[in-house]
Amino acid sequence: DDPSRTPRPMDYELPQIDTSVAHSARVYDYILGGKDNYPLDRAAAERMLESWPSLRISMQENRRFMHRAVRYIAEQGVDQFLDIGTGIPTSPNLHEIVQEVTPGARVVYVDKDPIVLAHAGARLTSTPQGRTAYIHADMNDPQAVLRAPELAATLDFGRPVGLSMIAVLQFVLDDEQAYGLVRQYLDLLPSGSYLAISTVTTDSSPKPAGTVVAEYARRGIPARNRTKAEVEPFFDGLQLVDPGVVLVHNWRPVPGSDVLDTDVAMYGGVALKP
Ligand code: SAH
Repeated sequence: DDPSRTPRPMDYELPQIDTSVAHSARVYDYILGGKDNYPLDRAAAERMLESWPSLRISMQENRRFMHRAVRYIAEQGVDQFLDIGTGIPTSPNLHEIVQEVTPGARVVYVDKDPIVLAHAGARLTSTPQGRTAYIHADMNDPQAVLRAPELAATLDFGRPVGLSMIAVLQFVLDDEQAYGLVRQYLDLLPSGSYLAISTVTTDSSPKPAGTVVAEYARRGIPARNRTKAEVEPFFDGLQLVDPGVVLVHNWRPVPGSDVLDTDVAMYGGVALKP
């Protein structure tokens, strides 16, 4: 039994990939240049890009924010991560970033889309020193995530964990439900743990980003855009790391980054659980 092995898809009953509707993971994959998508995903994505070409920049900046945020958390000494709403694996994935900092880092990925499950085994492979695991579950059912044997087998909840929910909370439409969901996961984690989130906003580009949100809904993927004031409560009771909740490209940017605020429709932030 190789401890670094990622559970293979056949550990689960492989659910059917539904290509008769667009899926958020596949639309995102297409816009980021991936190949794991189908005609309806591409049609939806092209329609969105037509109405707002900057959507690609916004999504690229979201992915880069994830990289910087989890690298930051790893640099604080955290070596275990729970990533909820992983998306179709795209290198570098979260474990590749944090295992660069700490080769023995352990990561549990969670997503509900069968296409993510289909690729998890081959693409989310750990360093020999560390470990990765994948849980196929709906985050809105925390018990399904928390009861999964992969979780307890991979992470030690007696030590700090980095919880990342990147570009997924916009799919929880009700605010109180969304805040409560994050709280339920955080409640399990000890002091010294970190939370990293990003979620959709139309603050910086109301019209075109609003059109994209409407197009997602038309395609069967309803999403909720949030103002900064609506994103901040996700971090209630935590200590926000500088610079707080900002458009994702403005979160500890690499020097020389020159992305415009009007090209980005995601807020992000990182906080410490005291
Ligand atoms: N976190 C990645 C991918 C974002 S795409 C990144 O930022 O690069 C959003 C992902 O969230 C998709 O893969 C989608 O399948 C997943 N997702 C959406 N709702 C979910 C839910 N209720 N439970 C688990 N995953 C969900």
